Amino acid sequence: MIYKTDPHLISPYLKDASNYIGGFADKVVIPESIEELSCFLKTNTQQITIAGAGTGMTASRIPLSGCILSLERFNSIGNPDGGFIDVGPATSLENLYKKLEPTEYFYPPNPTETLASIGGTAATNASGSRSYKFGVTRDYVIEADIFFSDGNSTTLKRGLTIDDPLEISNGRKVFFPNISYKSPLCKNAAGYYVRPNMDWLDLFIGSDGTLGIFTRIRLKLKFSPSSFISGILFFDKEEECWDLVDSIKKSKQKFINPCSLEYFDRHSLNRLRKKFSHIPTAAQAALFFENDIDRQIDHKIALDSWIDYLENTSVLSDSWFALSASDLKKFHEFRHAIPALINEENSRLKRTKIGTDMAVPDLYYFDMMNFYTRELESSGIEYVVFGHLGDNHLHINFLPDEQNIQKAHDLYAKFVSQALKWNGTVSAEHGIGKLKKKYFLQMVGEDSMNQLKSIKKIFDPDFYLGKGNIF
Ligand SMILES: Cc1cc2nc3c(=O)[nH]c(=O)nc-3n(C[C@H](O)[C@H](O)[C@H](O)COP(=O)(O)OP(=O)(O)OC[C@H]3O[C@@H](n4cnc5c(N)ncnc54)[C@H](O)[C@@H]3O)c2cc1C
Repeated sequence: MIYKTDPHLISPYLKDASNYIGGFADKVVIPESIEELSCFLKTNTQQITIAGAGTGMTASRIPLSGCILSLERFNSIGNPDGGFIDVGPATSLENLYKKLEPTEYFYPPNPTETLASIGGTAATNASGSRSYKFGVTRDYVIEADIFFSDGNSTTLKRGLTIDDPLEISNGRKVFFPNISYKSPLCKNAAGYYVRPNMDWLDLFIGSDGTLGIFTRIRLKLKFSPSSFISGILFFDKEEECWDLVDSIKKSKQKFINPCSLEYFDRHSLNRLRKKFSHIPTAAQAALFFENDIDRQIDHKIALDSWIDYLENTSVLSDSWFALSASDLKKFHEFRHAIPALINEENSRLKRTKIGTDMAVPDLYYFDMMNFYTRELESSGIEYVVFGHLGDNHLHINFLPDEQNIQKAHDLYAKFVSQALKWNGTVSAEHGIGKLKKKYFLQMVGEDSMNQLKSIKKIFDPDFYLGKGNIF
């Protein structure tokens, strides 16, 4: 077991991508085996915050007190076997992708930040550009070993539903409480997942480090597509990009069936121009799309379908198309660059991130785009909008100067209220953590919050895990 108590060694664990300030822990505990982890938990009397890779956006891995539990030594990665792979929770997405590269498999949800750990992505139910078609982390976690704050454990598998009691290693049987709360049906990463007849596993996925500790995760893989048709399409008006996405989503054409539809507004492009100087000067918006092709034989016909499809649209002629796997990699770098640039800008200017993660049902797509744009334009606050347009799920980053901070928070609150009126969610991807609790309470209400607390109490009665997250 490794203990770090020197404040200089603790301080890297007091950060994530949210720029949240105010974390505190008196030590970092790093078990080197399951036995050490279990022994530590059985004797521990402090609050515990679980650390993943620290790329989270909601300060959920930043402790408020007690100690930090880092599973960084649990980074084993198995061999893909029959479409499944076992990984330790500290395995990064980057290492998973490297492992899969020479195989016939890929891991579809692809959250943008590849330094993120699989444990972190499971705890936040992370998603990425390809989630539009392939689904989110929840859809690919099929088994997990979980430790509880008291040192007991269980193995959760698909098919073990909450209709049956859950058996814990000490022989205790846990029954799911009789509650009325249900998670929304739209893309959602806010609070505990609760749906009728769900698997116990689903409760732990997206639980923000508050219910249990993932120590082994079995992921489901998919056969790699034989190729992707992909491009970054530029537009001289943002609205033209919104229209095209709407039309792509409604298209019934066989090969117009993308897995990614990612948006960049003009403020995103202005920032990206510093890194990608050949962005067309007329461009005021962009769409990164990818269409997976299963059989190589279909590639040409799919490419022709896309060319025909885009011919009579307002896409600028100097848009980019991927001609090779390395072009596709560059397009992913382009997508990754925008949140990274904003995080870097926030850090440099010591600005706390004020970024939204709301999603609304398809029905309100245009209402949402018009509402956001109208309000942002008239606010006078600097902002950037990018994200998963295919899922009606945008990241609005408010970039206020000192005088406008409160105004930005007020506008954020207004957006939340509107998204909730449209049956949306306050977090579709990053989780609630410490930064979105107020909005989560607004989303579910006091009564449901108490119901969710009753779930927490079953597994962590003394509220040791993830203090300050969700509740
Ligand atoms: C540039 C950039 C782009 C991003 N893009 C995306 C994106 O496209 N999609 C997306 O969903 N997110 C994105 N994120 C956010 C972030 O990458 C995800 O939230 C990711 O899932 C966090 O993983 P992590 O390992 O860094 O976890 P951390 O930030 O360390 O922790 C996150 C939460 O997971 C818990 N946790 C960690 N390990 C375990 C474990 N073993 N058991 C139980 N709980 C655990 C922690 O306690 C905490 O509550 C992005 C971040 C950055 C910086």
